[in-house]
Amino acid sequence: MANKHRVVVIGAGFGGLRVARGLEGADAHVTIVDAHNFHTFQPLLYQVATAGLDVDDIAYPVRGIFRRRRNIRVRVASVTGIDLAARTVTTDRGAPLPYDTLVVAAGSISHDFGIPGVDAHAIGLKSVSDALAIRERLLSRFEDADLDGVRSGALDVVVCGGGPTGVELAGGLMELYERVLSKDFPDLPVDSARITVVEAAPVLLGAFDARLGRRAERTLTGRGVDVITAAPVDRIEDGLVILADGRQLRAGTIVWAAGVRASPVAELLGTELGRGSRVVVEPDLTVPGHPDVFAIGDIAIDPRRPLPQVAQPAIQGGKHVADQIRRRLAGEPTVPFEYHDKGSMATIGRHDAVAEFPNGRTLSGTIGWIAWLGLHLVYLLGFRNRVNVFVNWAWNYLTYDRASRLLTPTDDSRT
Ligand SMILES: Cc1cc2nc3c(=O)[nH]c(=O)nc-3n(C[C@H](O)[C@H](O)[C@H](O)COP(=O)(O)OP(=O)(O)OC[C@H]3O[C@@H](n4cnc5c(N)ncnc54)[C@H](O)[C@@H]3O)c2cc1C
Repeated sequence: MANKHRVVVIGAGFGGLRVARGLEGADAHVTIVDAHNFHTFQPLLYQVATAGLDVDDIAYPVRGIFRRRRNIRVRVASVTGIDLAARTVTTDRGAPLPYDTLVVAAGSISHDFGIPGVDAHAIGLKSVSDALAIRERLLSRFEDADLDGVRSGALDVVVCGGGPTGVELAGGLMELYERVLSKDFPDLPVDSARITVVEAAPVLLGAFDARLGRRAERTLTGRGVDVITAAPVDRIEDGLVILADGRQLRAGTIVWAAGVRASPVAELLGTELGRGSRVVVEPDLTVPGHPDVFAIGDIAIDPRRPLPQVAQPAIQGGKHVADQIRRRLAGEPTVPFEYHDKGSMATIGRHDAVAEFPNGRTLSGTIGWIAWLGLHLVYLLGFRNRVNVFVNWAWNYLTYDRASRLLTPTDDSRT
């Protein structure tokens, strides 16, 4: 391996994994670095938060993906520095990693837009820890209320952000409340608990056709979710969301699903950043002035053609970068990245989802929901995970149950 071209990939998300897979068997030594030893399938995080799936249904060990790949190694560590002149990446553990080509695919983090109290009093939904924290908070509020009585708003949830994540989470929460928690806690007034989605824009699902946003609002309200649109959040206090128009919403659980910004790894490059602190890239996805550095997925932006922070740009960008590295190894120049828009989808709960395709066609209702289920199964990593998710979905569908509602201690206390 000593004389091989060294590729370091930061991030084992949708983009980073696709790069490494595209370099399997190439004449290069690839190291994929991630802070976690697993890949997270973020589109199903909300189902972990709402007790429909367990963590290892939607996460997959990175070493397991590459264990038979002779030219690929995994380092589980956080990237703490990038030296573009010395061509090294430093991590919180282990020696610095030298590279000939660097691929930055570190994704995004929750963005509070500078709104006071978000970090302190709301939980994001970007990682498995976030999803577990939401589940734990919800279930603990119910256990506390069962013992000590219901304090004002303790069982209520406010979801800040009416994009796909907020809509999917609210739909999932309503099913959990109606079908499971109302039976688990017969002495609590679960029927009167409020689940509220707050959105700053006039309509939900802002990235979709407005008709689909209105449909999502009708479906959610029909199922008992309160939807408040055109209502920016002013600040969040302990158990309280305060809107810009002065309205106050008390809630035992507050979720922040209002937006993302690039991972702080973007700043480590020291190159130009664009909207959302994303790394500005050239049409071939290299960083300007650094042809040996590529950036893809949520962390990157080509200002001439900004792409949404969803899975497809990361996956297709990953394939493109692997192809470009192979081209260079063969002595050929890079070519521009061509993105193929496959459309967007969001589910609103049982039997309902909305989808929009590049030709302007839309899909909704049960057909949309079945398409959503099928696509998520196809893109989920690992045969075992697919089977688990399928079995869990079938179980949840037939029994209305949610099996993954364990409260597991998160500290060292053994009881
Ligand atoms: C709740 C939720 C629901 C979503 N639903 C959908 C959906 O339905 N459809 C869709 O298309 N998209 C959806 N998305 C968006 C989609 O998941 C992202 O666009 C996609 O994951 C971006 O891929 P990526 O490779 O750029 O980054 P990611 O997949 O986020 O991967 C980044 C990786 O980098 C690692 N990393 C970050 N910082 C460091 C560091 N300092 N050191 C080492 N490693 C680091 C992280 O651990 C992570 O594994 C959803 C996102 C969320 C949060």
